Amino acid sequence: MEKNSFLHLGDHPILDFCNTVICHGEDIEDRLNGPKDAESFVNEFFSIKSKVDSKTFGSLIELRSLLRRYFYFILGLQETDPAIELNSWFAEHPLILSISNSHVPEFTAKNSPIFFANMISSLNSFLSNLDEKRLKKCANPNCSHLFYDISKNNKRQWCSMNSCGNIMKARAFYARRKGVNKK
Ligand SMILES: [Zn+2]
Repeated sequence: MEKNSFLHLGDHPILDFCNTVICHGEDIEDRLNGPKDAESFVNEFFSIKSKVDSKTFGSLIELRSLLRRYFYFILGLQETDPAIELNSWFAEHPLILSISNSHVPEFTAKNSPIFFANMISSLNSFLSNLDEKRLKKCANPNCSHLFYDISKNNKRQWCSMNSCGNIMKARAFYARRKGVNKK
């Protein structure tokens, strides 16, 4: 697979996990098309080389779909709270805490590959420290990307200035010009 095929724009690996589904209007592109893509993703975002079988891949896609719904729910963009479904996903993938020789506590996933533990642990710290005002969806209505605004003034609007930022600014510019011409 090509390098750099995953977007790094969410400012958190959990959000960029959600951003592996790219919806631009009616077009939906999925960058996780099979176990090999999932292996590349966990290697790139969680620095873990792990084999992914088709069952694990299925669970991963299920988690992504639940998380996307969950974040959209937090953002007020979806009505139903998928917490119950999310909790049953967690119950199916229990974690075990262990302390290694270097006395560093570490989670492993029971009956699941190690990267599930890393992802759940990353999700846990993300949600525990979440400032909901900083969780955002790109302001381009046709774009589905989620990001965490780490800017000082919390004014970030776009997933990326190069794509949506410029599109929306151009749109606003033409809309203004149209308005001027009408006068
Ligand atoms: Zn966007």
